[in-house]
Amino acid sequence: MQSTEIEQEPESISSLTAADRCDECGAQAYIRVELATGELLFCGHHGNEKREALQPIAISWLDETEKLLAR
Ligand SMILES: [Zn+2]
Repeated sequence: MQSTEIEQEPESISSLTAADRCDECGAQAYIRVELATGELLFCGHHGNEKREALQPIAISWLDETEKLLAR
């Protein structure tokens, strides 16, 4: 019997996929910003552009831009 399997982790943020698109330009999103008012997705370019303004008020900031560099 296996009882170690965890199927739901509400606290964790799922990683971004190719279906996630930047809210600014429609490019593939690599940054997910969780705000009190909702969620925003940005590509690497716009994520860096908005970081200074949004990061202080963001609940969470998921940055997967290293995936771009890993290619
Ligand atoms: Zn963009």
